[in-house]
Amino acid sequence: MARYTGSVCRMCRRENMKLFLKGDRCYTDKCALERRNYAPGQHGQGRIKVSDYGTQLREKQRVKRTYGLLEKQFRAYFGMADRMKGVTGENLLVLLERRLDSIIYRLGFATSRNEARQLVRHSHFLVNGRKVNIPSYLVRPGDVIELREKSRKIVRVNEALDSVMRRGVPSWIELERDAFKGSLKTLPVRAEMTTPAFQEQLIVELYSK
Ligand code: SF4
Repeated sequence: MARYTGSVCRMCRRENMKLFLKGDRCYTDKCALERRNYAPGQHGQGRIKVSDYGTQLREKQRVKRTYGLLEKQFRAYFGMADRMKGVTGENLLVLLERRLDSIIYRLGFATSRNEARQLVRHSHFLVNGRKVNIPSYLVRPGDVIELREKSRKIVRVNEALDSVMRRGVPSWIELERDAFKGSLKTLPVRAEMTTPAFQEQLIVELYSK
């Protein structure tokens, strides 16, 4: 599958927002956005007038890049969210948060969603006792995600877990650090999904044109 292989910090600088794509570094003053808070490229520091369309497009790119998706995948999630009951923008964020790689990142088994995706692809996790190696697998409330026995000695995973224990996990998931397992307690509500701070209604406006 095609994927972006360039600098991820460049994406944050383009979006002028911390997308938290690089693990612990994002929480330090080594963050590229802290050091160079302007868009990349020759004209990055110039003054640019942004149209309504440009604002909506940037918001869509922010969300898409945060969850590491390509346009076609993102569009498919939007279609699903649109067909669901409730507020489309909120449905979209909830769907993205339900992805297995996203839950694993939120639980702290990995320091970024990219890393989480690789761990899933390499079959390090069980969902309700069964091996799942599909990063886009949609986790349901009550599902239990567990690191496989043979993977529990991976240093990076342990370091990531220690790091999330210091920061804490979001309210909609539960982590049992010592048992290397976690679960989705309930679907998150919009007020809980605060990081990064998206304006998802702009995406709805963009796709409704
Ligand atoms: Fe790079 Fe993370 Fe900072 Fe983004 S938030 S610029 S990925 S260090």
